[in-house]
Amino acid sequence: MAIDGAYPPATLPAGDTKTESESAAITAAAHPLSALPTPVLLRSLLIATISSKPSLLIPSLSALSFLCKPRAGPLLNVDRNPILHFILKATFYRQFCAGETPDEVRSTIRQLAGMGFQGTIMTYAKESVFDAKTKMQTGLGVSTKMSGKQEVTEPTLARGEAFCPQIEAWRKETVETIELLGANDYLALKLAYLKSTPATIARHLQAASDVGFTLGLKLVRGAYIFSDERSLIHETKADTDAAYNGIAQGVLCRQLGAFGTEKPFPSVELFLASHNKESVMKAHALRLQRLKEGLPTVPVGFGQLHGISDEVSFRLLTLKNERNEPMVYKCSTWGRLSECLAYLVRRAVENRDAVGRTEDEYRALKREMARRSWYSLL
Ligand SMILES: Cc1cc2nc3c(=O)[nH]c(=O)nc-3n(C[C@H](O)[C@H](O)[C@H](O)COP(=O)(O)OP(=O)(O)OC[C@H]3O[C@@H](n4cnc5c(N)ncnc54)[C@H](O)[C@@H]3O)c2cc1C
Repeated sequence: MAIDGAYPPATLPAGDTKTESESAAITAAAHPLSALPTPVLLRSLLIATISSKPSLLIPSLSALSFLCKPRAGPLLNVDRNPILHFILKATFYRQFCAGETPDEVRSTIRQLAGMGFQGTIMTYAKESVFDAKTKMQTGLGVSTKMSGKQEVTEPTLARGEAFCPQIEAWRKETVETIELLGANDYLALKLAYLKSTPATIARHLQAASDVGFTLGLKLVRGAYIFSDERSLIHETKADTDAAYNGIAQGVLCRQLGAFGTEKPFPSVELFLASHNKESVMKAHALRLQRLKEGLPTVPVGFGQLHGISDEVSFRLLTLKNERNEPMVYKCSTWGRLSECLAYLVRRAVENRDAVGRTEDEYRALKREMARRSWYSLL
């Protein structure tokens, strides 16, 4: 049984005239997850099994949330208890995160590049989330009730170190993240997905037109539905989907609101960060159709989170054409295990809420495991 690389290895039946690369491409197109190394497949299957079974996911989520709280004692401190550290690192951490040290991060980036990804989008894990309901800001080393006086304003940001050591620490580590990246790798920047997003994009398109720069538009649906002010978010999932697809298609056709009709459409590069198969496949098909018909469009990249929706990522990779499109990236997170816990909790919550997607992923991983087991018997 092959341990690393695409599976099965591209050996040819006698008399088959296909080249090895043609044969590998056929396997990849029919079985996108064949690109996953076996240890990664086994770990993904373990995590997908937990994520798709509420009886396993709910206790795991509670345990992760419990461990997130900063503790002085060594027993429940994930950085100080070696057994806890080993178990979490070998499972949840390795599934979704890039590494705790620069060497581990570089090795993950190399592994993802070896699987065919255009590059890696790297995020530093330290984060704090502001809960609109409780007015609490939580995250590693941060637990503050925000009052009018403590609100972050530009002058307080400028004096970051004096007012908020966490922001200064985040700034330093973000600069360190940039130093880890090479050509084709990106540092993740946030664009929340809200009802106001079309108006925000219109402002940014106007600024790009006025100043003459290329607008890098990263489109996400939005991960903070439970902590953001709910009234600012679309009422239903279908509304969010329609808004997401509408913006993506508008930008790909260079026609959004008044831009592209009453006003010129500025230079834009689109990045669709999504696990939604329909959204990404439709966008890729639309770009190809526009290119085929000689119609104007914009460059587009696609990204999925490390450890999530590999089936979508690898399916996109199997569509690569002579223009090296689609360009597919994985977005990963790095930091000490304790720093990544809040991020891991968010991934577990996302898997709990995206029931349909989690079950699809689980089924696809099981099919791939069964296929490999069958090949290993032949
Ligand atoms: C490369 C990458 C970068 C990312 N960067 C960011 C970032 O900077 N900021 C950020 O917030 N997130 C970020 N995310 C996370 C992303 O927001 C979530 O993974 C995404 O929301 C999940 O949606 P989806 O597009 O994968 O599709 P789906 O799984 O089809 O959609 C799920 C999403 O739909 C929305 N939704 C669900 N139910 C409802 C409802 N009842 N009403 C309205 N809307 C609903 C929510 O936004 C939910 O997350 C990133 C993801 C990727 C892949």
